Amino acid sequence: MASPNTFTLITFTITTIILSLTSTSCSQPSFYQCINQNSDFPVAPSNFYAPNVNKTSFTSLLNSTAQNLRCLVPSIPKPQLIFTPLTESHVQAAVICAKQQKIHIRIRSGGHDYEGLSYISVSDEPFIIVDLSRLRSITVDIQDNSAWVQAGATIGELYYRIWQKSKTHGFPAGLCTSLGIGGHITGGGYGPMMRKYGLAADCRIYRCRNNEKYSRN
Ligand SMILES: Cc1cc2nc3c(=O)[nH]c(=O)nc-3n(C[C@H](O)[C@H](O)[C@H](O)COP(=O)(O)OP(=O)(O)OC[C@H]3O[C@@H](n4cnc5c(N)ncnc54)[C@H](O)[C@@H]3O)c2cc1C
Repeated sequence: MASPNTFTLITFTITTIILSLTSTSCSQPSFYQCINQNSDFPVAPSNFYAPNVNKTSFTSLLNSTAQNLRCLVPSIPKPQLIFTPLTESHVQAAVICAKQQKIHIRIRSGGHDYEGLSYISVSDEPFIIVDLSRLRSITVDIQDNSAWVQAGATIGELYYRIWQKSKTHGFPAGLCTSLGIGGHITGGGYGPMMRKYGLAADCRIYRCRNNEKYSRN
């Protein structure tokens, strides 16, 4: 059987964003307004979840990917808002607006962080979650041995899209198919092909900015 070719990857629609800012509070209407003022594409109110606006959906989304239930107990500080961007422009706007409104951000891709770093805070400082779960497009180019993957896609989705295009290609990453690309690759990403092909993060990673490609290694 032919050895799987490793894929060069990947586009991250966002990189690390944990801002150290003076704390304040963030209301759903003001954040919504700010996002629409600062992004190229309009976003609907339904992309914002807040405990005082749509509590059931907020709680359901907040808890949806948690792997460590200790992070969900009532005493753990909860975000003031969850925003689910639909485009990279929304993500950029979220950073601008969080900075303007002086509130911390947590970035969540697959939400599989056992420490809860993507959805809880260890301090009482108010924070919001930018949840990338709706940014999950995957484009596989077999000729080029490459794939463009948005950070909210899971590694299972990536494996599946590669398998659809080729039975002899693969990408060396983790075992659990619901891991998010964003948190998994930034954390290294080891799996069954590690000995031969290394970590997911060892593969060439591109990020996309202003329609240009930047190679990181
Ligand atoms: C059931 C299970 C099985 C696992 N199996 C494996 C395995 O086989 N191999 C392996 O290597 N690891 C494994 N892990 C560990 C997993 O890879 C890490 O927890 C990883 O960080 C999860 O990524 P995520 O996007 O799902 O998590 P998230 O909770 O969304 O993110 C994790 C961290 O990365 C940050 N982050 C998320 N998205 C971005 C982004 N786009 N840009 C910058 N930072 C970002 C978050 O803020 C957070 O700090 C496993 C974990 C679980 C729970």
